Amino acid sequence: MTESRDWNGHVDAFSLEGKVALVTGGNRGIGRSIALGFMSAGARVAVTGRDKSANAAIGEELGSKGLVLVADVRDETAMELAISDISHRFGRLDILVNNAGIGKVTSVLEMSQVDWREMIDTHLTGTFHTSKLAARKMIDRGDGGSILNIGSMYSLFGPPKLMHYAAAKAGVLGLTRALAVELASYRIRVNALLPGWIDTDMTSAVRATTVGEVIRRKIPLGSFGTPDEVVGAALLLASRAGCYITGTEIAVDGGYHVADLPMGLI
Ligand code: NDP
Repeated sequence: MTESRDWNGHVDAFSLEGKVALVTGGNRGIGRSIALGFMSAGARVAVTGRDKSANAAIGEELGSKGLVLVADVRDETAMELAISDISHRFGRLDILVNNAGIGKVTSVLEMSQVDWREMIDTHLTGTFHTSKLAARKMIDRGDGGSILNIGSMYSLFGPPKLMHYAAAKAGVLGLTRALAVELASYRIRVNALLPGWIDTDMTSAVRATTVGEVIRRKIPLGSFGTPDEVVGAALLLASRAGCYITGTEIAVDGGYHVADLPMGLI
């Protein structure tokens, strides 16, 4: 078999051969595409999720090189057990993708403590403790690593009726920057992806409405993205190709965050 070489004559810089990755919320949507993409790039991949049938389906797709663990990302003890299972099965952990997430539209005037906590605990607290646990494993092994946090265009914008989501996703950016600086001396890089409107279960309801059509017209590249279209940027940040990138974010949104008016209006 011929090895592909990168611009410095090294083995393919985008290869994840020999690496082990954990993708939280990896049983469907963006997480599933990243998990399968990382596996195609050579990694052994573990995913976590709660839903039994979605977990069984991704288990089939990942096959014997994969590992599916039932774990709620809000539960630190469950995540600790999951990471320990990954260590036992694969002997290492090189890449963490903090992807698990939920969306729920609620006016701030109606928003309860339960709504707020569910959103913050899933996106922000889950990212905090999973990153901490994974970083400890990476540091023990001494080989560096990559942590990739899935933020959102709403890490930057102020969307109505999604205040809790925007607060959590903006928090993910602060966490990304601070972690990147603190963990740099261990060669652990920490970055964020900011997806725009991606075609998943999370967006299916809005996509089918007239609001979905208005959104589509504001996306310079002309359509909602597919989960697979997020994978390339994730691979860049997780692999040796991104070895000097840390503390930053990449928007994967078809140009949405720099667009002003719907296309064709002027
Ligand atoms: P999906 O609804 O398709 O998938 C969400 C995933 O997260 C599922 O695997 C789900 O698994 C998991 N999940 C949710 N809550 C928990 C939890 N408490 N513990 C463990 N797993 C959990 O969403 P997307 O793929 O669209 O979203 C993935 C990420 O991308 C999220 O962080 C989201 O905020 C972000 N994002 C999505 C955008 C989009 O347009 N789709 C845009 C910007 C950001 P299960 O239910 O089995 O636990």
